[in-house]
Amino acid sequence: MARYMGPVCRICRRQGEKLMLKGGRCFTPKCPLERKRYPPGQRGTGRPKKMSEYGVRLLEKQKAKHIYGVLERQMRRHFAQAEKLPGRAGENLVTVLETRLDSVIYRAGFVESRRQARQLVQHGYFTINGRRTNIPSVLVKPGDVIAWKQGKDKRVPYESAAQSVAAKHVPAWLSVDDKSLAVKVLSQPSKEDIDVTINGRLIVELYSR
Ligand code: SF4
Repeated sequence: MARYMGPVCRICRRQGEKLMLKGGRCFTPKCPLERKRYPPGQRGTGRPKKMSEYGVRLLEKQKAKHIYGVLERQMRRHFAQAEKLPGRAGENLVTVLETRLDSVIYRAGFVESRRQARQLVQHGYFTINGRRTNIPSVLVKPGDVIAWKQGKDKRVPYESAAQSVAAKHVPAWLSVDDKSLAVKVLSQPSKEDIDVTINGRLIVELYSR
């Protein structure tokens, strides 16, 4: 399935909750969900009042896919990775998604949204342990150091990251060097470190049908 390129606020309205896909705008009264608390389309017809069990699980998976900007094939790959880890697959799945490189760039406070982070990674702005990568779905692990590629640190995204990073809240599993803007991964993210509410169990149940 192709990546969704339409208006992202429609996704939040369809899900019925704020998914924070647009960065700064999501925190302002301009967020459409502040005014339109109903699904897009003709009023009252966008979402059934009572959803089937399957529908609930499908909606939860769509939510995770939209928040982390992953396609179905990637989601299934992350699910397979989560199943191999010790512990509950549902919780592991959210941890796997959170440790994607694009998500780490966002959580480090360099950009306003995971979408922007994905773009920077694809344009080759970052290295992991000194090696250049342009793959947003790469998973980082404790001990990894993510740095800005030499030469890219003179560009606008670096300048705006340098200006905004001090005001951002960085989760405890990451450490950001204020001067070089290098990110060190200290540990795997814990439940408390993850700022999205995704019920991984529902996604596991969907994939295990
Ligand atoms: Fe969702 Fe942000 Fe748009 Fe609000 S502004 S509907 S939170 S993407």
